[in-house]
Amino acid sequence: MTSRYEEIASNLAIVQDKIVAAAKSAQRGSDEITLIAVTKTFPISDVHILASLNVHHYGENRDGDAAPKASAVPGTWHFQGQIQSNKLKSIASWANVIHSLDELRHIQALDKVAAHRIGVFLQVSLDGAQGRGGAQPSDLSELADAVVGSAHLDLMGLMAVAPLDVSSDQAFEKLALIYSDFKASYPAAKYLSAGMSNDFESAIIHGATHIRVGSSILGSRPSPQ
Ligand SMILES: *Cc1c(COP(=O)(O)O)cnc(C)c1O
Repeated sequence: MTSRYEEIASNLAIVQDKIVAAAKSAQRGSDEITLIAVTKTFPISDVHILASLNVHHYGENRDGDAAPKASAVPGTWHFQGQIQSNKLKSIASWANVIHSLDELRHIQALDKVAAHRIGVFLQVSLDGAQGRGGAQPSDLSELADAVVGSAHLDLMGLMAVAPLDVSSDQAFEKLALIYSDFKASYPAAKYLSAGMSNDFESAIIHGATHIRVGSSILGSRPSPQ
C-alpha cells in the first residue's frame, strides 16, 4: 500500500513538473511562481508531510480549521476564504497573507486588529456576479488606496477565481488586462494570485505569480469548500 507521504510526494512532483512546463512555455522562470498548497479540510499530519517536502506556503479557507494548523507548523499561511467580520481578528492572528479582501470595511477592520504585518491581495470578480466573490474592477482603486494608507497591511496584488462558465484562458486573459491597468497605478503590487488545481497552467501562462493548489496535491476533499 502506498503511504500518505508517497502519495503526496508523487502528486506534488507532477504539479511541480507542470509548473515548470507552463512557465517555460510562457518564457517565465518557474522561480517566479509560488506554489500555495491548499490544506483546507486536510489534517495537520498532511501539512507536516508538505513541510518535509519543502512546501512552506499553505492556504486555508476557514479560520477555525486554520488556526491550530498555523500554530503547529511554521510557514507562510494564506487565507483565501470568504471573510466574516467577526473572524477578522482571529484570522489576523495567524495569517501572513490574505487573498480574499474585497470590501473597504474589511480592510479598515483588519488594519485595526492586525498585530503584525499582513500581505493583502484584493480579490477581483471576473464575471460581474458576486457568486465567487470579488470586487468590481472599478472599485479596486478605492480598496487599494485604503491598503496603501493602512498601518499594518502591504498591498501585494490582485487575486481572482475563474468563473465556471467561461474557459480559464478567457478568464485569465481578462484578469491579465485588469491587473496590468492596476499595476500601472500601484507598481508595488507585484503579484497575481490565480489558478487552482484545474486551471493553474493557464493562470501561469497569463502571469500568475501565486497559484493555489489543493486537490491535485492532497486528493479530493469530502465536500466542496
Ligand atoms: C479550495 C480553493 C483552492 C484550491 O482548490 P483546488 O481545486 O483543490 O486546487 C484555491 N483557491 C480558493 C479560493 C479555494 O477556495
